[in-house]
Amino acid sequence: MLAPYAAHDERSRGRRYPEPPPHYRTEFQRDRDRIIHCNAFRRLAYKTQVFVNHEGDLYRTRVTHSIEVAQIGRTIAAALALNETLTEAIALAHDLGHTPFGHAGQEALNACMRDFGGFEHNLQSLRTVDELEERYALFSGLNLTFECREGILKHCSLTKAQQLGDVGERFLQRHQPSLEAQLANLADEIAYNNHDIDDGIRAGLITLEAAAEVPLVQRHHDEVRKLYPELAGRRRVHETVRRMVNSLVVDVIQSSSERLRAAQPADIEQVRARAQPLIAMSDAMHAQNVELKQFLREHVYRHHRVLRMTTKAQRVITQLFETLMENPKLLPDEYRDHALQARQRDGDGGGARIVCDYIAGMTDRYAILEHQRLFDPAERT
Ligand code: MG
Repeated sequence: MLAPYAAHDERSRGRRYPEPPPHYRTEFQRDRDRIIHCNAFRRLAYKTQVFVNHEGDLYRTRVTHSIEVAQIGRTIAAALALNETLTEAIALAHDLGHTPFGHAGQEALNACMRDFGGFEHNLQSLRTVDELEERYALFSGLNLTFECREGILKHCSLTKAQQLGDVGERFLQRHQPSLEAQLANLADEIAYNNHDIDDGIRAGLITLEAAAEVPLVQRHHDEVRKLYPELAGRRRVHETVRRMVNSLVVDVIQSSSERLRAAQPADIEQVRARAQPLIAMSDAMHAQNVELKQFLREHVYRHHRVLRMTTKAQRVITQLFETLMENPKLLPDEYRDHALQARQRDGDGGGARIVCDYIAGMTDRYAILEHQRLFDPAERT
């Protein structure tokens, strides 16, 4: 059923700590199941994608975003005879390391960590599944397969790649990850570009008519209006957005099939050895997708209402970091001892990393609450 160039369970590069194979599941099913059951996954329910959790119940959160990425990824994987389960596992885990408050939180934490090696959310997703989850007797983290870890680490700086061992090597050699990882990466982009249009309209930041200045939106919006001239409101939005998602998915399937047919990789190692990914949009669709992203950047991500919220979020993150760095004794028990030990062992940088892990793991509402507890004298500590 699987193409020769797909990730095959029995040819996995394995786990960091060898374990007996599961009885009724594949290795990648076990990865997916461990991800679904971990703490970081449940926290995604209360982490922002673009809109902060308390702004409304219908906006995407990190968890609904991750499920949409998994859905899009699985459709493409099945159509290309790639490993659907591995794609799903990577999709569900790809944002586990995200800070509260979306990209505003990530930028703020990166700025706080400037002198201590920085903060990259992709790397933090890997750190979460490799180190931070405390669930198993014999190892820290989830002990996922190499293929799943390779997919989670979408990008990282060369300095970091040098410290990561096997999973960092491809960045140094400019090689590719598995097709399933390439696919999960693209499914992420398809999911957020489209759901951010939908959420942006829901929030009243943009209208569908304004978004139709983007050719990709316009084409499908015109079709919907021709088919259903009376249709208005949410249904017109959804009929348009679902056509956009579908056209992107179909384009990725068709153009990737062509690339795979031309390249004919014999196995996953030949996929990895290539300089360019084989899973990609056509050039024409890529250009349209770039226009969609530009529109989102100008009209949604930089909308003054979003900026007002992100400014507050950055202040919360920065003040939490500065206060906890100054006085690690304010940390909750389980982090305090770690931070004090790490500080003694590795200096300020060691302590900073533990404070950073603590803040990165917070949900939006927990960060707001912890900020109140530390700064508002009327609040119970
Ligand atoms: Mg994502």
